[in-house]
Amino acid sequence: MKNIALLGATGSIGLSTLDIIRQYPDRFILSSIASANNWLMLAKIAKEFRVEVVAIANEEHYENLKNELSGFNGRILAGSEGVEEAACLDGVDILVSAVVGAAGLFPTLAAIDKGIDIALANKETLVMGGEIVLRKVKEKGVRLLPVDSEHSAIFQCMQCGKVSEVKKIILTASGGPFRGKDKKFLQTVTKTEALNHPTWDMGPKITIDSATLVNKALEVIEAHWLFGLDYDNIDVVVHPQSVVHSLVEFVDGSNIAQLGTTDMKIPIQYALTYPERINTSVQGMSLAEVSNLTFEKPDLEAFRCLALGYEAGRIRGVAPAVYSAANEIAVELFLTEKIKFAEIPILIENALEKHEAKNNPSLDDLCYADRWARDFILNKQK
Ligand code: MG
Repeated sequence: MKNIALLGATGSIGLSTLDIIRQYPDRFILSSIASANNWLMLAKIAKEFRVEVVAIANEEHYENLKNELSGFNGRILAGSEGVEEAACLDGVDILVSAVVGAAGLFPTLAAIDKGIDIALANKETLVMGGEIVLRKVKEKGVRLLPVDSEHSAIFQCMQCGKVSEVKKIILTASGGPFRGKDKKFLQTVTKTEALNHPTWDMGPKITIDSATLVNKALEVIEAHWLFGLDYDNIDVVVHPQSVVHSLVEFVDGSNIAQLGTTDMKIPIQYALTYPERINTSVQGMSLAEVSNLTFEKPDLEAFRCLALGYEAGRIRGVAPAVYSAANEIAVELFLTEKIKFAEIPILIENALEKHEAKNNPSLDDLCYADRWARDFILNKQK
């Protein structure tokens, strides 16, 4: 039996995780859950799975959650400490960290500290805190298992050889809704168009990140930390069908790829059952039906955010944290229709140019850089 803590329980990764737990009640127990705002759904999940701890990050919703859970036997918590407690509950074997944004770093670090394995779906944990997180993972001997479809694919391909035999990894990108469009076209795109992702059904922030290719840039930085490769050995290829989820090229010239239906249940479940594979409810893939697989180079001029992400990664220090935080605010501004789509890369670039570089950053340095970047973007709008 595996005891699971699930942060981001009401998001798309969270809900897929719940489906897997439902399917295998003899393998998994949901011990604790947390969500940022969705108290109503959180309460429903808490009751269904009879969890020990339920935490709502936004304290404003605490009373609502409590009222909704009258008669509930578990503990009801709020705020970032509450989320951290949910992540580190005694007896938890694995934390599924599916929080959106920088808020994911602290509870994930706390769980690692406690020796809990991590199924990581929160990008910022490694983008912001890669250096610190990896140090801690080694020190505590915990498993850091990727949930993101690309990283899970690479992780699966890596089972075919040794790390020292890897030449490079190739992350696939769907290209988002604006694949093939030029810089000029991107000046005029609307929020609705940007939210219309061709292959994956995800939350609004990550959907915009897919349209700008920020998502891919964050994944490049994540891959750098997860697999210990230089940025020169991490490539991105646009693959609109999203059938090949990523590849590893080994030194002998063999390319190993992982393919499958685009359903996050596959990578989530692999992280939960690794090194075992078990049945899923996901429909198998028919290559004959897919029929065409195409690949193209990403357009770094039109999708400048991808180039900026590599740049931030290579600068190291607090630069990836600045990149990610600046983007988070820029996306918020775009989603509330305060800036245009084409302004997102400009704002990120400004933040990167103006940020104070720092090597071997502490957690405080990272938080400062994160706060600084957010304020920097917001102040620019005044
Ligand atoms: Mg991905």
